Amino acid sequence: FREIRLASRPSGWPTEDDFEMADAGPPDVRDGQVLVRNLFMSVDPYMRGRMNEGESYVPPFELGKALEGGAVGEVVDSRVAALAPGDLVLHRYGWREHAVLDAGQARRIDRLRGIPLSAYLGVLGMPGLTAYAGLLDIASFKEGDAVFVSGAAGAVGSLVGQIARLKGASRVVGSAGSDEKVAYLIEELGFDDAFNYKKGRVHDLLARAAPDGIDVYFDNVGGDHLEAAIGALRTYGRVAMCGAISVYNAPEPPPGPRNLFLAVGRRLTLRGFIAGDHAGRMGDMLAEVAPWLAEGRITFQETVVDGLENAPRAFIDMLGGANVGKMIVRLAAD
Ligand code: NDP
Repeated sequence: FREIRLASRPSGWPTEDDFEMADAGPPDVRDGQVLVRNLFMSVDPYMRGRMNEGESYVPPFELGKALEGGAVGEVVDSRVAALAPGDLVLHRYGWREHAVLDAGQARRIDRLRGIPLSAYLGVLGMPGLTAYAGLLDIASFKEGDAVFVSGAAGAVGSLVGQIARLKGASRVVGSAGSDEKVAYLIEELGFDDAFNYKKGRVHDLLARAAPDGIDVYFDNVGGDHLEAAIGALRTYGRVAMCGAISVYNAPEPPPGPRNLFLAVGRRLTLRGFIAGDHAGRMGDMLAEVAPWLAEGRITFQETVVDGLENAPRAFIDMLGGANVGKMIVRLAAD
C-alpha cells in the first residue's frame, strides 16, 4: 500500500521534492487493531511546522517516515469488537492509502445527510473546533463586538466570520488574497465588508473596512495583519492568536508588531491557543454548528484534489492560497 514520506526538510517554501511516494508493504493487522481504507485526508498549515527540525507543541515529522494528519476512512478489516467493516472513522493517519490503527486511534463518525464525509476534516472537525473555541473562549466574543478575521476565506476563517455573524456581531470584516475570495466573503458568507490584502497596506484597507475600529481580531496570518489589527483594536480588545501563516515559510523570524505598546493603554489581551487543548468543546461546537449547517445558516466550501500522489501539491498550493474553504485530498470514492 502506498504512503507519502518526508524526503527532506524544506527550507523556506516546500517543493514536491521534499516528499516521496513509497510502498509500505502489506498491512499487519493484530488483535485490538483495525485496517482502514482512507477516503479523504487533510492538508493543514500546521504540517509545515512539523516538517522543521526541533520540538514545538507537536513532535516533528521524521525523515523517511510517512507523514501524518487528519483522515476519514472506512474500516475494511477489524480485530476490535466495537468496530466492524463498513464503519466510518476519523483518525490521524492520513498521507497513506490504508492505515492500521489501534482501537483508541479511530473515532467512529456518522454519515450526515447532504454533508460530505470530508466535512469531518473541516467544519465538523478540527478547523471547526478551532474557529469555535478561538472566537468564543479565547477571544471571549460577545454580542455587539466588531470582529476582524484574516485568512477569512480559508477553513478556519470562513467559520469564524459566520459564527460571529450568527452570534450577533455588530460588524464582521475579513481579509483574503484575491478579489474572488473577497466577493465570496461578502456575497455568500454574509461578511459586512472584506478586502484583498494584496491590494494595499493592510493598515489602510482595515481602516476603510472597519472605520470605527474592532473589538476582536482572530489572527490566522500574523505579520502586518497583526500590526494593523492592534492599531484598530478598541479599549479592552482581544486577539485570538490562532496562526501566523504569513511567516511559516519565512527563512528569518519577521519583526514583531511595532505598535505592541498600544496593548498597554488600550488594555488589550493577546492570547495564543492550540485547538487540541479545547477538545472538550467539540460537543458544544457540533451541537451549535450542525443545526446551523442543516438549516443552511452556515455554508462551507471545499477545494478537492484527487489522488494521494497529488497530496504534496495540494499542501503546497494551500500554503499559497489556491484553496477556497478547506483543502481536501480525495483518496478514494466514498
Ligand atoms: P486555510 O484554509 O486558511 O488555508 C491557508 C490560507 O492561508 C491560504 O488559503 C491563503 O489564503 C492564506 N495565506 C497564505 N499565505 C498568506 C500570507 N502571506 N498572508 C495572508 N494569508 C496567507 O488554512 P486553515 O484554515 O486550516 O488555517 C488557518 C490558520 O489557522 C493557519 O495559520 C493555521 O496554522 C491556523 N490554525 C491553528 C490552529 C490552532 O490550534 N491554533 C488549528 C488550525 C489552524 P489567501 O488566498 O487569503 O492568501
